[in-house]
Amino acid sequence: MKTTVLISGAGIAGPALAFWLRKRGFAPTVVERAPALREGGSAVDFRGEQMTLLERMGILEDIRAKETAMGEQVIVDGRGRKVAQMPSVFFSGEVEIERGDLTRILYDHTKDDVEYVFGDWITGLGEVADGVDVSFAHGEQRRFDLVVGADGMHSGVRRLTFGDEERFRTDLGFHTAAFTVPNHLGLDHVGQICSVPGRTVMVASGRDRAALNVSLVFASESLEVRRRDAETQKKVLVERYADFGWEAPTLLECLGDVDALYFDSLSQIHLGKWSQGRVVLLGDAAWCAGPGGSGTGLAMTGAYILAGELAAAHGDHEAAFARYEEKMRGPVKVSQKQAAGIGTFLAPKTRFLVGYRNVLYRVLGSRPMTKVFTWITSRAANAVTLENYDAPVAARG
Ligand SMILES: Cc1cc2nc3c(=O)[nH]c(=O)nc-3n(C[C@H](O)[C@H](O)[C@H](O)COP(=O)(O)OP(=O)(O)OC[C@H]3O[C@@H](n4cnc5c(N)ncnc54)[C@H](O)[C@@H]3O)c2cc1C
Repeated sequence: MKTTVLISGAGIAGPALAFWLRKRGFAPTVVERAPALREGGSAVDFRGEQMTLLERMGILEDIRAKETAMGEQVIVDGRGRKVAQMPSVFFSGEVEIERGDLTRILYDHTKDDVEYVFGDWITGLGEVADGVDVSFAHGEQRRFDLVVGADGMHSGVRRLTFGDEERFRTDLGFHTAAFTVPNHLGLDHVGQICSVPGRTVMVASGRDRAALNVSLVFASESLEVRRRDAETQKKVLVERYADFGWEAPTLLECLGDVDALYFDSLSQIHLGKWSQGRVVLLGDAAWCAGPGGSGTGLAMTGAYILAGELAAAHGDHEAAFARYEEKMRGPVKVSQKQAAGIGTFLAPKTRFLVGYRNVLYRVLGSRPMTKVFTWITSRAANAVTLENYDAPVAARG
């Protein structure tokens, strides 16, 4: 009998884990709270060792076929004048793809031999001697050998297993939003970034030139906005950006028609341990770092290692979880450290800091400094050594 694994969350980490578990002879089921795949979000990039992982998964070609092919990013002032310019590798790594396109690729590579259940979620977990009894919101009860919480920063599995989110979440003092509008600026594979103290607007035209991907980052206290309340989130954005200037009025006007708004705090998740009994956490549910910490690549790397260790442990899930955690702790630390100050970089809080950030970009954007910046931004990606789980034990490296 194959080991059954219930994965909560069909974002990035969940389908990536399903992919590797299937390949290693497990029987994964993925349960996703949303009624369908959530394809929103801004672009995500891969660099360094993460490229090897994409090759091992056999999805690099698919990713290249959908890559944003983003060019340079230009910092502009309130009148649209260029202040600094950065080569694409800074923000877009070695290959960049919209998060939604990546989710779709991962889903397409797994949907034929993995059970996906949309529009449902776990409400209860009861561990018994040889499995976990799982209750679902829609009333069903099933038993699985193992359960994985890959359900993002606001993980339901983490709450049920370890306790309330507030105990593990550190807010970084910023919020972010991402949405897509028509490309009224006519940008062609380039991005523009405009900041005033404490607020930033980033726009980019990527794969689909008809569309403009908008990301907002603003300094804020914790906001009392419910996660699935898009209308209130839109109101908050309109209020916060009312006097921003530049292209903000047009972007906010389009916001009313947006139906896939991503809105969240920039926060980190810190837990002393990622597993308890037969339940383990993966991706943002376990270690959310925030943007700038290679979160997507790290979630996919974690999926590879977790599946590999489970297969290598031949049924000893506790040993597998321990080795997975041992291997991921270091890279996660690098990632969280790298992302901790990202809000100040993305939306500097004072006029002085905006100017300082722009000068820094100008310096780092100059040719001699490109290598240094590339090294800095690849640290989290390269902090992992990808063991070859297909090789005989003695030859793994
Ligand atoms: C729609 C969307 C847009 C995003 N856009 C951005 C962005 O613009 N910038 C950024 O920095 N990060 C963004 N993120 C977060 C980013 O995807 C992650 O940081 C990273 O890719 C790690 O992925 P993950 O799979 O761990 O988490 P996620 O990609 O967040 O995936 C978690 C999945 O679990 C599902 N889920 C949540 N709760 C439950 C539950 N109780 N039961 C079952 N399923 C559940 C969610 O619907 C989601 O599909 C976005 C996430 C989502 C879901």
